[in-house]
Amino acid sequence: MKFLVTAGPTREPIDPVRFISNPSSGKMGFAVAREALKAEHQVVLITGPVSLSPPDGAEVVRVVTAHDMEKATRRSAADADCIVMTAAVTDYRPARPRSRKIKKGRSELLLKLVRNPDILEQLARRKGKKVLIGFALETDNAERNARRKLHQKNLDAVVLNAPDAFNADRSSVTIYTSDGRTIRLDGASKYKIARELVKLAERFHDKIHGKDSSS
Ligand code: C5P
Repeated sequence: MKFLVTAGPTREPIDPVRFISNPSSGKMGFAVAREALKAEHQVVLITGPVSLSPPDGAEVVRVVTAHDMEKATRRSAADADCIVMTAAVTDYRPARPRSRKIKKGRSELLLKLVRNPDILEQLARRKGKKVLIGFALETDNAERNARRKLHQKNLDAVVLNAPDAFNADRSSVTIYTSDGRTIRLDGASKYKIARELVKLAERFHDKIHGKDSSS
């Protein structure tokens, strides 16, 4: 299969030396890329700014903003059999990034933010026979929000995790699938979670393409 994996955070410039982002390390996405390659799939890895070395054999595309990630993802999506969106895409960006460094003043500074595109939602509109796996990072009503995402974004599976997954080597996740399965992995290494996702993707790919993989 051809996997398209997104990883890491995106950064949205406020001025030339400041940005809005989040602490995503890219570990989850890089683990998915590694495990997919080990299982002899092809991998395009689209990553925001992270300090990890990509696995040998992946085609790596480095991006900074959500807009860059959207463009790169769209370019590679047509060709992909499976898309795993682990990236922590920054939902809002400054409406007018300044071309010069903002100087401090005496009064408060208001920053107007505008919505970034939801890359996964856009991909889901043209899902076709692709397998789509998304992530849900929730702080409240976790299960309900994750299940809602599964349906709203037309996903085959959604991986629910919590903010303590940021930059960690291990994570506790619950995977909800569109065919009603719930898979709980407690304190699992990100490689183990990645292996589970690759297996799931293979199963959904077979199902979508009418092959029996009920075992
Ligand atoms: O709706 P929410 O942001 O919680 O959805 C998370 C999932 O959607 C993740 O898989 C993330 O990579 C993806 N996403 C995206 N574009 C955004 C925000 C999230 O593709 N702007």
